[in-house]
Amino acid sequence: MGKKVAVIGGGYSGLAAAFTLAESGIPVTLFESSRTLGGRAKGMDWKGLRLDNGQHILLGCYRETLALIEKACRHPEPFLRIPLELSVDDFHIKTLPLPEPLNLLFGMLSAKGISFSEKLSALGFLSKMKFMKGLDINVSELLEKYGQSCRLCELLWKPLCISALNTPIEIASSNVFISVLMDALNGSDMLIPRINLSSLFPSGAARFITKNGGEILLSKPVRSVVKHHAGFDLLTDGETFSFSHVICAVAPYHLSRLTEALPEIRVQDFDYQPICTVYSQYPERVRLPGKMMGSSRGLAQWLFDRGAICGQKGLIAAVISAARLELSFDSIASTMHEETKKLVPDLPPPLWQKVILEKRATFSCTANLQRPGNETPLKDFYLAGDYTASPYPATLESAVRSGLSCARLALKTI
Ligand SMILES: Cc1cc2nc3c(=O)[nH]c(=O)nc-3n(C[C@H](O)[C@H](O)[C@H](O)COP(=O)(O)OP(=O)(O)OC[C@H]3O[C@@H](n4cnc5c(N)ncnc54)[C@H](O)[C@@H]3O)c2cc1C
Repeated sequence: MGKKVAVIGGGYSGLAAAFTLAESGIPVTLFESSRTLGGRAKGMDWKGLRLDNGQHILLGCYRETLALIEKACRHPEPFLRIPLELSVDDFHIKTLPLPEPLNLLFGMLSAKGISFSEKLSALGFLSKMKFMKGLDINVSELLEKYGQSCRLCELLWKPLCISALNTPIEIASSNVFISVLMDALNGSDMLIPRINLSSLFPSGAARFITKNGGEILLSKPVRSVVKHHAGFDLLTDGETFSFSHVICAVAPYHLSRLTEALPEIRVQDFDYQPICTVYSQYPERVRLPGKMMGSSRGLAQWLFDRGAICGQKGLIAAVISAARLELSFDSIASTMHEETKKLVPDLPPPLWQKVILEKRATFSCTANLQRPGNETPLKDFYLAGDYTASPYPATLESAVRSGLSCARLALKTI
């Protein structure tokens, strides 16, 4: 059989793999079970607006993701770029446009809402960070070891850990936390998409892949992969496709069923953390005091003013990370309205609200987690996805890096 490559899964990892192969002149067939590309990072239509299935933030240090978006996206300015900034209750810190480490030093010293000794304590922690990696413990142990007060944990470290790892500090991996923090603080901005997540990369990637002889098969779930002497058979509903190479870019909870006939592919079970996004549409005049506001007192950690970010006036997105929600969607929606009211005192009732709960948004990024590599014991069968080995937690960047790595591995034997 000639060399033929299949990618299973059209999330950011699968598309990054297929795009990279297409750039090298290798046409790929990409199978996606859903009707749209993007996986856990996709756009959707609601009440005449383009929304995302979850409000996402990227960091300037997401090098590979940003490079691919630059190649694939037609929009001239797809992001709102703001300095790394954290506003939680009365606490506010912002990195300053100065060379490293002055950006952080002066940022911390001019922070509002914490005492001078708390500033020194946080700076002491940050300055020792590069020596902290090694034994992987949970983040709360690490913070205790370095004398961080409960108040600093509540206002600074807890929100940072939840936004970066989507995992509570009591179980989150100290090594991954430090990796992300070091990269993020290294002069990195925050990037909030101005366009929906499907237009950011998936649509442009799909155009490029098909233009270069590849094929994107939507609503085409692969039911099973079978190994034979010359490669792999992919079984869909009623059809069988043969390939020499397979990049399997599905989330780990879809992997075991798909690879039941491949005993070599065994990936451990992961625990997952949810993310709930609540969109609340108010009259157009409603605005938050800032584009992105944090809170440590309510259910939502972050509120985003979509009017200020992308022109969707009066629309507020609230993000509730890593919380096991026992409430009904109606109660979650009304709680978000009450929490927004604390920031906008004359807030009128919402015109509509939409609650989107992703129960398995990310794997729990716990200490000493064993994540599989991209190569597998099966020659020419690779694993891509945010859960594969990476210094990063489940993010677009870890997904994209895994896709690039699989494409490069496949290219060696094509
Ligand atoms: C609400 C939410 C908020 C988030 N916020 C952020 C953020 O702010 N910043 C950040 O960097 N990351 C964030 N993430 C994480 C980020 O979205 C994920 O890490 C990333 O999208 C994972 O990409 P992936 O390609 O690894 O997996 P997925 O996106 O899960 O892609 C897998 C694809 O495979 C398809 N598939 C599954 N089974 C089959 C089959 N049998 N045949 C064919 N196709 C199949 C699925 O339909 C899916 O499209 C967030 C995630 C969520 C859910």
